[in-house]
Amino acid sequence: MGPWYPIDDRIAVVRGSVNIGVIRIADGQSLLVDTGLDRDSGRRAIREVTDAGWGTVVGILTTHAHADHIGGHAMVVGRTGCEVWASPVEAALTRNPELAPAILYGGDPPATMRGKFVLAAASPVHHIVSTDTLTFADLTIGVIRLPGHSPDQIGYAVGGVCFPADVVFPAETIDKYRIPYLFSVATHRASLERARALDFRAFVPGHGPVLDREAFVALIDHNAAALDAVERAVLSAIAVTRFADEIEATALRSVGAQPADLAAHALLTTTIRGVLSDLSDRGTILGTVEDGRIAWRMVS
Ligand SMILES: [Zn+2]
Repeated sequence: MGPWYPIDDRIAVVRGSVNIGVIRIADGQSLLVDTGLDRDSGRRAIREVTDAGWGTVVGILTTHAHADHIGGHAMVVGRTGCEVWASPVEAALTRNPELAPAILYGGDPPATMRGKFVLAAASPVHHIVSTDTLTFADLTIGVIRLPGHSPDQIGYAVGGVCFPADVVFPAETIDKYRIPYLFSVATHRASLERARALDFRAFVPGHGPVLDREAFVALIDHNAAALDAVERAVLSAIAVTRFADEIEATALRSVGAQPADLAAHALLTTTIRGVLSDLSDRGTILGTVEDGRIAWRMVS
C-alpha cells in the first residue's frame, strides 16, 4: 500500500510516520495539513498530491509546531510558494524552531538535544489562525482548539473529516513509551473531553491509522488512562521521596518507561513536571526549595 490514502474526492492522507492531510479546495489547488519530519516528507507530499491529479499545494495548515509536523514546511514553501497558517503560539514556534529544544531542556540545550526530531528548519507563517473557521473557495474548514500536547495545538475539520493532530497517540505508541508527551496536563485533559464530543465520520490523528468515531473515542480513553497512570505514579513517588529528580526517576520506573538519552528523558519528564504543576494548581501538593533541590509535599 502506497502512502496515498484518499478518504473521498476532496480529502486524502499521505500516510507516514506522521500523517499529512490533503484537502482539495478547488480545481488544481490543494492544502496540506502539516508536512512531516523533513524535506523528504515534504517532497513526498508534493509528489503524491501531483500524482493524484490534485494539483498544486497552495497552503499548509499547521496543527502544532513539533518538528515531526513542521519539518517539511520550509521545503514545501520553497518549492511551491505556498502560504502557511498556524495558531498564534505555534506560529511563533514555527518561525523560531530553536525554541522547541530550549523549552524541552528548560534553558539553552546541549547540541545532542538539537536533533531533527526536536529542531525543525524555520518556516515563514503567513496567516495567524485566530478564528473558528477558515474559508477557501467554496470550502469552510473548522478550527478546533486542542491545546495541551503543545501550548496552542489546533485541529481542523472539513467535509465530515477531522484532523485532531496529537491530542491522541496510537495505542502502540502509548504502550511502548508509557508516557505521552504533554506540555500542559490540565489543558490537555480539557482537550481530550472536547475531542470526545467531536462528531465526524473519520478522524485522521497525527500518527497512526484513520479512525471512525468509535475507534477515536476508544483511543481517547486509552490516552486518558495513560495520563491517569502517570498521575498515580507521581503521587506514589511523593509518598516515598520529596525531591523532584527522585520523583521523576521513581515515576518513570513505576510506569516502565526507560528513556535512553537526554531528549527522550526530557520528553517524558515534561509530562511528569506537568502533572506536578497540575497537582500544585489543584492544591494537592506544594513545591519548595530545600538545600538547592526542588521538593514537593502533600498539602494536608
Ligand atoms: Zn506533537
